[in-house]
Amino acid sequence: LPAAPPAQVRARRRRTRQLRVGTVPVGGGAPVSVQTMTTTNTADVDATLRQIAEVTAAGCDIVRVAVPSADDARTLPKIVVKSPIPVIADIHFQPRHVFAAIDAGCAAVRVNPGNIKKFDDRVGEIAEAATVAGAPIRIGVNAGSPDPRLLAKHGAATPEALVESALWECSLFEEHGFTDLKIAVKHHDPMTVIAANRLLASRCDYPLHLGVTEAGPAFQGAIKSAVAFAALLGEGIGDTIRGSLSADPVEQVKAAHHILASLGLRPRKLEIVSCPGCGRLQVDIHQLAARVEAAFDGFPHPLRIAVMGCVVNGPGESREADLGVSCGNGKGQIFVRGRVVRTVAEHRVVDTLVEEALTPAGSSAPD
Ligand code: SF4
Repeated sequence: LPAAPPAQVRARRRRTRQLRVGTVPVGGGAPVSVQTMTTTNTADVDATLRQIAEVTAAGCDIVRVAVPSADDARTLPKIVVKSPIPVIADIHFQPRHVFAAIDAGCAAVRVNPGNIKKFDDRVGEIAEAATVAGAPIRIGVNAGSPDPRLLAKHGAATPEALVESALWECSLFEEHGFTDLKIAVKHHDPMTVIAANRLLASRCDYPLHLGVTEAGPAFQGAIKSAVAFAALLGEGIGDTIRGSLSADPVEQVKAAHHILASLGLRPRKLEIVSCPGCGRLQVDIHQLAARVEAAFDGFPHPLRIAVMGCVVNGPGESREADLGVSCGNGKGQIFVRGRVVRTVAEHRVVDTLVEEALTPAGSSAPD
């Protein structure tokens, strides 16, 4: 079956510097990368590597692991060497963990120098070690963590407070000549995320990591993330994304891919064009769409499948898709590349779609 056609309209990407997180380029026109964070205890190497394998299979490009303890820091070399994708160490406060992460070969470190400076000012040494290792640093300012002086100045975690805080954090590295930086300014409110990133994009040329932090359970979180990412990526702002859903990291990665594919920034994998149903419905469309989605989960080629509940819009949408079914009278009319090839009983619809997807192009005989 043919690949879905490319999106007709694409945003021009904002020009940024480019850095490399291991093998993955970020910014400077590179494809927008997808990242997530493991939820395992990092020191549990097997569990962490298992989860990294799962998110990699789902299409994750870069994975971040939290390093809150010395035990976690000690396990980084094993994780880095076995991970199929670049690993970023996420560190707060402890400079010794930053050095351990760089020594372990982590592709990048997420650390805010403001936190380091407060307790043990080794920002210059970190800049030097990161330069030698070629490891970029990600500055991350969330709604809960702007610099207290800027929070007091702005009265709340406003877009201005987030951006000023992030640029101040960058300046602590810049004064040591280190500029291999990317920045995230995150908030749970998508409109604040949009305003903050627009402002940040106007004030620097560092690559930007987009995220709606603490976006909520999967359904709400995916929508909030999509709202913010669509507005920003539609303007060309954003170089790497994370969907911070309260859900399995695999779901975060899948949501991020759907968002990028919807914006024409990633090739589509599986797209189900299914109708919402109405009073004309002649089949349980919700169940049928879910069964088709499950049957094609992991299908290796891009595919658009129309699953339609009656003959009003069914044939039209089915003709536009790679595969389609238009239901009515207990039957499903099966379309392949715009042609009706079979009509089958309703209970045979899903299996027939799978058979047709696996049939070599051109060998289905029309009805
Ligand atoms: Fe209603 Fe038919 Fe449209 Fe589905 S395809 S929403 S059943 S008119």
